[in-house]
Amino acid sequence: MTGALAARWQAVRERVAQACVQAGRAVDDVTILPVTKTFGVDVVEEAVSLGLHRFGENKVQEIVAKATPLAGAGIDWVMIGHLQTNKARDVARVAAEVQSLDRPELAAALDRYLQAEGRAMDCLIQVKTSPEPSKYGLAVEDLPGFLRSMSAYSSLRVRGLMTLAIASDNEADVRTCFRTLAECRERARDGGFAIDRLSMGMSGDFGLAIAEGSTEVRIGSAIFGSRG
Ligand SMILES: *Cc1c(COP(=O)(O)O)cnc(C)c1O
Repeated sequence: MTGALAARWQAVRERVAQACVQAGRAVDDVTILPVTKTFGVDVVEEAVSLGLHRFGENKVQEIVAKATPLAGAGIDWVMIGHLQTNKARDVARVAAEVQSLDRPELAAALDRYLQAEGRAMDCLIQVKTSPEPSKYGLAVEDLPGFLRSMSAYSSLRVRGLMTLAIASDNEADVRTCFRTLAECRERARDGGFAIDRLSMGMSGDFGLAIAEGSTEVRIGSAIFGSRG
């Protein structure tokens, strides 16, 4: 197993680098966020032994469950899944970053608990770029107002935007989602918001995301194998 994980990690790094070159971008423009959801503490430990220390998870309970046995491993847990407001307190306690900030009540709750913890947190705003009803995220047209409102929350440092593209074999439709997020960032910058990061692209679509300007790809199955 050890050899297998190391080999898949290396292969993903090479594929991401190739996608950067194909897109005419520098290889170190794009960070890989390994997504460990559903995988156990043993797998995370193995990834740590490869030098990885920042992992994406989509459930708060799962971060809490893994953070305890892995305390001391120097891991930054990144929340990438839909977040209920009543979980904001746990997130403020255990997560290093939230990429799924998508509504005012959640921002207010997170800020309140972070203040209580005496810390600040980087966050990305999740934007809904796909028409699928199953996808979460702030509506594109609500982004400017939401960005303005964030100045009230001194514990939340907005660094960029995140999205999930439509699940489709149609590359043009997938690219449209990624392009929409990149356009959102350009408009935000034109409006004076200093945001850099675009978290977009997963195992099945990271090449298209990198072509559209992704700065961070969230990769689970291509690194850790298929989930149950
Ligand atoms: C699971 C997940 C990923 C990774 O998906 P893979 O297809 O396994 O690479 C990325 N982003 C989010 C929000 C996820 O929940």
